[in-house]
Amino acid sequence: MSPCATVLAGQLTLNSTCGYPSVPKHSKRLPPHRSTEFLMNSFLNASHRKAFVPVLLISSFLFAPPLTAQDATVRTLITADRLIDGFGNLQQPGAVLVAGDRIVAVGQNVTGQAHDERVDLGDATLLPGLIDLHTHLTDAEDAYWERVLVTTTPSEAALYGAANALTALRSGFTTVRDMGPAWSFTDVDLRNIIDEGTLPGPRMMVAGNYVSATGGAGDARQFSIYVDVPAVRNLADGVDEVRKAVRTNLKQGADFIKILATGAVLSRGISPGAQQYSDEELAVAVVEAGRWDRFVAAHAHGAEGIKAAIRAGVRTVDHGSMMDDEAIQMLLAQDYTYYVPTLYVGVIVPREGAAMGIPPEQVQRSTEMMRYRNATFRKALEAGLPIGFGTDAGAFPHDQNAREFSIRVQNGEKPMDAITAATSLNARIMGWEADVGSLETGKFADVVAVPGNPLEDITALERVLFVMKGGEIVRNDVQR
Ligand SMILES: [Zn+2]
Repeated sequence: MSPCATVLAGQLTLNSTCGYPSVPKHSKRLPPHRSTEFLMNSFLNASHRKAFVPVLLISSFLFAPPLTAQDATVRTLITADRLIDGFGNLQQPGAVLVAGDRIVAVGQNVTGQAHDERVDLGDATLLPGLIDLHTHLTDAEDAYWERVLVTTTPSEAALYGAANALTALRSGFTTVRDMGPAWSFTDVDLRNIIDEGTLPGPRMMVAGNYVSATGGAGDARQFSIYVDVPAVRNLADGVDEVRKAVRTNLKQGADFIKILATGAVLSRGISPGAQQYSDEELAVAVVEAGRWDRFVAAHAHGAEGIKAAIRAGVRTVDHGSMMDDEAIQMLLAQDYTYYVPTLYVGVIVPREGAAMGIPPEQVQRSTEMMRYRNATFRKALEAGLPIGFGTDAGAFPHDQNAREFSIRVQNGEKPMDAITAATSLNARIMGWEADVGSLETGKFADVVAVPGNPLEDITALERVLFVMKGGEIVRNDVQR
């Protein structure tokens, strides 16, 4: 029996390796000398790229001196007045030494050698690359998702995805768990094209397709009964159809399963407070995903659906808006399932939803749900729950994810704890903690910097000035 399957028998001693696809690497490495400019050129001049690369290669072959062994791995020493390691520790000053795509040394005494490249960021704080557990990178931000299926194309969604991926990366988010596109599996293609090094973007763990009940939160076919979108098949009712949906999504390249346990705010279907999938349907999704060594993330607003998802053994309860005391106690009693609130989207949709083309009754749903979200977060914080960091970016622009930090801090979280959530805790939830989520020797060189000290002003995280992903500098506003 797989580790996840033990959940069905009511055992919560899950194997921590259950449900973790491996961390993607670039299969095509970029030459170390051509970092930012090369990435930007390849993105901005994608149509010229095929011609551009051979010219570069030929010219360097003809005119450049042969590489010495020392040049083979160019090292970069990044320094700043402060460093936060992702585990709640502050160092002053801070230094990170990078060789290839990995961190080789971290600490106040790391000085590097004379031939190392140097990036000194001054009055700034170095942080691990940020992680968002709840994004929707594909599709235009202002395209209301039910309308997407009848007025846009998957290729359009993919192109917006490429632009959004660059925006998210430049905003400091070097890793995201993407919670499903309107055009199914466009996220799989975006992940693949980023992983092969063709386009810049965060490391992506993707859902591929929603698993939703008919008339439920993820049912985007809420048109006339005479209208259909045959290319998108995400509805599953009953244990057999749920099992098949899980198998289909994983077969088509999803890394994990996104299931909608309750209704949603941005939906005409069943209300956000109502449980939409039965305990049996949720359990079979977890068991089947476990057979593939993958986990399930449950969208859940209402308390009954949240508790059903916890009982089933999902990895995360996303939103968790109306989580009650019993659900908090259930989470405290185990160490597998995590609460991932999305507070900022609850501010932005009531305020700007109408301008974003969201129907008035759904803006109203969001306004009602906002009453619960912050109070639930505060209760979970007081109870001592570890709280994952997610945003629902896609319902708002992909350079605003970091606004989630301020709202969490306004609701009582210590700034350092909010940073730990978005780094090492999120990496652990994804199962990628061996590679991302902290500034430690051996991890991928995913490094960001913000001005000043974010422990004194958490909004500094909204003003990222330096981003490195896997040893490649993708943003440096300090040294131009
Ligand atoms: Zn979402």
